[in-house]
Amino acid sequence: MQQTKILIIGGGIAGLSTAWHLAHDASDAEVVLVEREKHLASHSSALNAAILRTLGPDPLATEIALRSARFLRSPPAGFSDVPLVDCRGLILAAGDDLADSLSDCVKHLGGDAKVETLSRTGLRALVPAFQSDVAAAYRFAEEGQIDIAALAAGYARGARRGGVTLRRSCRVEALLREGGRVAGARLVGGEEIRAQITVLAAGGWAGELGRGVGSRIALRPTRRHLMVTAPERAIDRRWPVLWKLGEQQFYCRPESGGMLLCACDVSDVEPEHCTPVAEVKEVIALKTAHHLPALAEAGVAHFWCGTRTFTPDGRFDIGPDPDLAGLFWVAGLGGAGMACAAEVGRIASRLLLGTGVSRELAASLAPGRPEGARVAKW
Ligand SMILES: Cc1cc2nc3c(=O)[nH]c(=O)nc-3n(C[C@H](O)[C@H](O)[C@H](O)COP(=O)(O)OP(=O)(O)OC[C@H]3O[C@@H](n4cnc5c(N)ncnc54)[C@H](O)[C@@H]3O)c2cc1C
Repeated sequence: MQQTKILIIGGGIAGLSTAWHLAHDASDAEVVLVEREKHLASHSSALNAAILRTLGPDPLATEIALRSARFLRSPPAGFSDVPLVDCRGLILAAGDDLADSLSDCVKHLGGDAKVETLSRTGLRALVPAFQSDVAAAYRFAEEGQIDIAALAAGYARGARRGGVTLRRSCRVEALLREGGRVAGARLVGGEEIRAQITVLAAGGWAGELGRGVGSRIALRPTRRHLMVTAPERAIDRRWPVLWKLGEQQFYCRPESGGMLLCACDVSDVEPEHCTPVAEVKEVIALKTAHHLPALAEAGVAHFWCGTRTFTPDGRFDIGPDPDLAGLFWVAGLGGAGMACAAEVGRIASRLLLGTGVSRELAASLAPGRPEGARVAKW
C-alpha cells in the first residue's frame, strides 16, 4: 500500500498539467500520478488535431484559452527545447448562419489578441485551395499548431523534477470509498494507493470511475475522426489552420506534406471502444469536395479517431466533487484540452492547494454546478 497527499488518475494532458502546476506551486505537495498505459499522453492527448485556437462563443472558455496560449508561446525557461507553438496563423471563417456571432465575439476580444479581418480575396491568398463561400473571416496571427509531444514531455519532465511520482502501466480498477469520502484507489492487481485527495483526470474514463463510487457527475464521451491526405504538391506547408464554423463545419491544416482534414463529426462512444468508423471517410470526402475541391481526389495516408469528453454545459469540470469528500475532478476538456491545458492545470492546482481562485471562476467550473446557466455554443 502506498500513501500520498494527492493521487492523480490519468497521465493525459489534464493530469500532467495539474501535476506540473502542483509541483511548481508547492514544494511539499506529495503527488503520485498513475497512468494505465505504458506511455503517458497516448489517448486523446495524442490523437487530436493539435490546433491552438482561442476564440469561442463562451467568454470564459476564450479567457482560459487566451491565458493558456500565453503559456504556450512563452513557457518557463527549461520547459522545452523546441517552440510549443508553430504560429502559422489560424483563420476562423463563417457563413451567413454564424457571421454576426463570430464578428461579435471578435469585437469583444481583449487587447492582446492579434486578429485581423480577412476579405474573401485575402482568405484565398492565404489558402488558395479553399474555395467555398464565407460571409466573415478573421486571421489570428499568433495561433496555429501546438507541438503536443513537446508539451506533454515538458509537463512530465517538470513534474518529475518537482518531485511528482509518475507511475505508468498502472491501471486503477476502482476508487476507494469509505463512508462519504474517497480515500484513494485500488489498482488492477490489488495494490491500494491511499490519498487525502484523489484527482480524476482520466479523460473519457473519468465519468465511469466516478460513477463506480456513487458520484453524480455525468460526462459524455464522444468520438471524432481525423484524416491526413497523401502528400500533394498543391499543398503549401506554410498555409495556416483554417476552421469553417457553422454549416458544413470543417477544419484543415497542412500535415506531413498532405492535409489534415476534419468534418467535425460527433457521435457518442465508449472510450474503451473508440475505433474508426469507415463511413466517416465519405463524410470527410464530401466536405473536402465542398471546401477544397482541388484535394477531393487526394489519397488517404492516415485515418483515425479519438475521444472528446464533454460536461452537460460544455465548460470544463475543475473542482471538488459536490458530494464526495476527497474526490476532485479535472475532466470534460472536450475539444479544447490541448489549447487550454496550461490554464486548466493552473486552476486545478490553486483549488487543490487552496491558494486562490476567484469564487466566480470556481463556481463556473464546479462539477455538479446548477444546470441552466446559459453557455453560448456554436
Ligand atoms: C479528433 C480530436 C481532435 C482534437 N483536436 C483538438 C485540437 O485541435 N486542439 C485542442 O486543444 N484539443 C483538441 N482535442 C481535444 C483534446 O485532445 C482533449 O481535450 C484532451 O486530450 C483531453 O485530455 P485528457 O487528459 O482529459 O484525456 P486523455 O488524453 O484521454 O487522458 C486520460 C488518461 O487517463 C488514463 N486513464 C483512463 N482510465 C484510467 C485508469 N483506470 N487508470 C489509470 N489511468 C487511466 C488514460 O489512459 C489516458 O491516458 C481533440 C480531440 C480529438 C479526439
